[in-house]
This record gives sequence, C-alpha cells and structure tokens, in this order.
Amino acid sequence: MGRYTGPSCRLCRRAGEKLFLKGDRCVTPRCAFERRRTTPGDQSRRRRRPSDYGVHLLEKQKAKYIYGVFESQFRRYMADAFNSPGVSGLNLLRTLERRFDNVIFLMGFADSRKQARQMVNHGHFRINGTKTDIPAYQVRVGDEISWKESLKATDFFKERTDGIPKRPVPAWLDLNQSEMSGRVMSLPSDEDLKLTIDSRLIVEFYSR
Ligand code: SF4
Repeated sequence: MGRYTGPSCRLCRRAGEKLFLKGDRCVTPRCAFERRRTTPGDQSRRRRRPSDYGVHLLEKQKAKYIYGVFESQFRRYMADAFNSPGVSGLNLLRTLERRFDNVIFLMGFADSRKQARQMVNHGHFRINGTKTDIPAYQVRVGDEISWKESLKATDFFKERTDGIPKRPVPAWLDLNQSEMSGRVMSLPSDEDLKLTIDSRLIVEFYSR
C-alpha cells in the first residue's frame, strides 16, 4: 500500500486526536480537529466505541500517520525491533525517532515532518559533509547535520531558520544556532521516547 496523500487533518479526525501534522496551523483555531471532531465518513456524528482489534490497529496507524511511513517499511521496522535486544516497543520508537526527516523536524528546520521529508528529498542537507537525500536514513551518534552551502544565501533559508529554535530540541540532539547545524549527541533515551504513541499496543498488534 502506498503513502497516504489525502488531507492531513482527516487523519487526526480518523485517529480521534490531534497528531500535529501541519506545523503552526495545528496550534491555531484554524485546526480542523478543533472545529470538527467526528470520524470521517461517519454520518451519525458520534464516535463509536472501537473493538479491541480497532484500538490496536488505530495505535499502529497513528504512528504511521505521525512519521509518514509506508506499511511495508513500518513492518520492517517492527521486525527489526523484535530481533533487537531490549523492549521491542521502545526499539520501534527509537528507529522512528532516528529517521533523518524526523531529526530535521526536531531541530526546527521544518514546520512538520512532511515538510522535512520534502526538504530532505530535495537534497537541502548534508550529513558529515555528504549529500543525504534519504528521509529514512537512520542518524548515528556523532553525525553532523548541515544545510547545503549554496542554499544559505537564499530567502528560503532565511525564512526557514528565522526564530530557531521554534520548539524545544530534545537532549539527544545539539543545535548550533549560529551555524544552523546540528549534531547527534546520543541515541534517543527511553525518556525521549515518551510520546503520545502507546508502543505496547503496536507490539501486541504485530504479535497476533
Ligand atoms: Fe491535525 Fe494539525 Fe490538521 Fe489540527 S491542523 S487537524 S492538529 S493536522
């Protein structure tokens, strides 16, 4: 199955909560979920109680929506998480957090993960001086992230980096504001992975 290309706000209504997929808009009254909380396609205007399977499925879908990954890729992440030492759910979340596009978002260079993925795809960033345009690249401890040099003279760069940091940068990343670059200081700790996603439900979904 391919990546979802429809309206992002519909995914929040589907998940029954705000997933913050559209950057600044998500914290304004223009947020579609604030105005309309019904499930898409549900004419009854009330949320039905989901089955046990539905609860597990929704949690898995939520993680996919937030990080914007394909089902096949998500399954691979889960298989790796099962085969790695430690708690499978945390392994999965750590893999998702280490995606290059997610790191660009966390450092504040993009307003949303979707925008970060597009910027990475367009080759805007370097890792240790080498062009890296793979959003799924797993960052490693010590990786230095920088902007493509020729972009730094553009209005786009100025617009993207004005007011940085726009939100708190997690402790496992270091943002150099004057250089507009970043460094991966460590892997995300268990504390860093305390997101709104219940990874236990996802592990149970794939353990059925
Ligand atoms: Fe979700 Fe953001 Fe759209 Fe609100 S504005 S519904 S939080 S994507």
